[in-house]
Amino acid sequence: MATFAAAFFKPYNMSNTTSLLSQRALRMEESATLRMAAMARELKAKGHQVIDLSLGEPDFDTPDHIKEAAKKALDDGYTKYTPVAGLLELREAICTKFKRDNGLEFLPNQIVVSNGAKQCIANVCMAMLDPGDEVIILSPYWVSYAEIVKVAEGEPVIVHAGIEQEYKATAAQVEAAITERTKLLLFSSPCNPTGSVFSEEELQAIAEVVSGHERIHIISDEIYEYINFSGRHHSIGTIESVKDRTITINGFSKGFAMTGWRLGYLGAPKWIADACNKIQGQFTSGANSFGQKAAAYALLADMKPTDEMRHAFEKRRNMVVELLGKIPGIKANMPEGAFYSFPDISALFGKRCGDTVVNNPDDFCEYLLETEYVAAVSGSAFGDDHCFRISFAASEEQLREAVIRIERAVRELK
Ligand code: PMP
Ligand code: GLU
Repeated sequence: MATFAAAFFKPYNMSNTTSLLSQRALRMEESATLRMAAMARELKAKGHQVIDLSLGEPDFDTPDHIKEAAKKALDDGYTKYTPVAGLLELREAICTKFKRDNGLEFLPNQIVVSNGAKQCIANVCMAMLDPGDEVIILSPYWVSYAEIVKVAEGEPVIVHAGIEQEYKATAAQVEAAITERTKLLLFSSPCNPTGSVFSEEELQAIAEVVSGHERIHIISDEIYEYINFSGRHHSIGTIESVKDRTITINGFSKGFAMTGWRLGYLGAPKWIADACNKIQGQFTSGANSFGQKAAAYALLADMKPTDEMRHAFEKRRNMVVELLGKIPGIKANMPEGAFYSFPDISALFGKRCGDTVVNNPDDFCEYLLETEYVAAVSGSAFGDDHCFRISFAASEEQLREAVIRIERAVRELK
């Protein structure tokens, strides 16, 4: 018995436990945005004057009328499981919103509400990908896209566009990346991390390419829809040739400052929505009940708080882009939406400050955090190793101070 126990209950040992982890977990990268935010929090806790521009999280609180709706829902007894795809009332409100804002026609049975848009994207990838299926991801892209695809055992195929093409890949580039294994095309507009917005013509051209390949479906991530300074949001799903092959993703985190509520949704062809519903039913069930009630209310309520947030982000964008533009070695883009700036800093590579050499954006972000306590995220996490990302989710004073610190750090590099 003693030998039996000794054989089975080996002493705890880290190298053993690592080898027990799945290839899935080992292949996956930790979220760089969340890691940077955690590092900034840690430095703050140690008493450093950190300016944290790492996380894509509105610094505004959820508007009061939405919070009140959640409190009322609790008092009204919305404390139980909901249908997996979400309360019918919320799915109806989402259909109304899709029609009102985007010209998209969905029935409630084509909507799935999840724990954030992140889970919606994961549901679709889990529902549609077999090992080896390729997903074309327009780059720069949001950190989690490639990792979600990998977890679902798909292969990310990165189609890149640099600052010289406003970070927007063209239809011709998409066409060139298509193979017989291509299953999905995934992108966000307005884009995280670049703030670029695809025009109607650019979406038309991409739709035309996709429509020539029956197998390919589109995941259109429109979570920054309401933070669009160009005033025109276009949903690729309205284009006739791809309307039955587009999954439109949206959520409450950005436009309604509801990141912690964990509520996102998708509208999709019914067979895809059904598969997402089945998968979610085994993983997490329906999203939280009273949050869903408040979300249904939010979609149909006064959008003034959202407009005010967009206005504040636009002011910050103008200020940050102007100030960054004055720093030699930094080439700032002009984001048309979302709340990020994604400057190209490749002119700084090879420069040093004392023993520190900056050879890439990872080095630069580390140098910035260590010397000036400004937390930003390296472009390499978003598929671009010439750039770094600054989030505007901070006050104007903080942003102004952050740019002063960035300028100081850059000037020290020789
Ligand atoms: N898509 C994009 C482009 C994002 O930036 C984010 C960041 N939160 C998400 C999806 C996921 O949002 P959430 O899960 O909070 O709804
Ligand atoms: N999407 C936000 C960002 O890009 C939030 C963090 C995350 O979920 O990765 O920073």
